Amino acid sequence: MIKHILFDLDDTLYPTSAGLMHAISARMSEYMVTRLGIPAEDVDRQRRDYWSRYGTTLRGLYVERHIDPQDFLDFVHDVRVERYLPPDARLEAMLARLPQPKSIFTNASAKYAHAVLRALGIEKHFGAIFDIVFVEYHSKPAPSAYDKVVAALPVRADECLMIDDAARNLVPAKRLGMKTMWLKGSADALLAEGSECADFTIKTIYEVAEVSMRGEL
Ligand SMILES: [Mg+2]
Repeated sequence: MIKHILFDLDDTLYPTSAGLMHAISARMSEYMVTRLGIPAEDVDRQRRDYWSRYGTTLRGLYVERHIDPQDFLDFVHDVRVERYLPPDARLEAMLARLPQPKSIFTNASAKYAHAVLRALGIEKHFGAIFDIVFVEYHSKPAPSAYDKVVAALPVRADECLMIDDAARNLVPAKRLGMKTMWLKGSADALLAEGSECADFTIKTIYEVAEVSMRGEL
């Protein structure tokens, strides 16, 4: 019986096609070029390397280049979220139908997460926002991040469902006993790594209610 649902934020509560993550990703690359002097032609390769070794660009830059993580977050999240995300009444209605309390578990900052939820018109449905500061910059899929989140929840790990578009982020959740749902939003092979551990696979976030209605949660 699922008593709590943990939602990833980016590319999970809104589709990749919204373009928001693309804009933020461009800001990350811009930060590396303008603030750190990394040659533009090296940025993509380095970010792919950070993604695989550290989980995020932020974590890689933090460990290897000793950047100020707050400065990085302020820079990359300096986008007009509402220009990319219109209110989503269908999502709002779906969340209202799910009886479980809901939280956000994101590698972004809480301030940005609030802006995303506000733009989508779904802020009232979420209790806690477990952000990158809460997990002390140990981004998903670092196991310590999950331990911190589980310790803060009023339910046991095996009473939790976690939903994320990056399947590898579900692996530590599964190991802790959570139910896992992979949102297969794109054909990107990197995002499918670890998908064998998903209890459910959905194509859009709206399908969560269908799984719930079937009595599977
Ligand atoms: Mg995501």
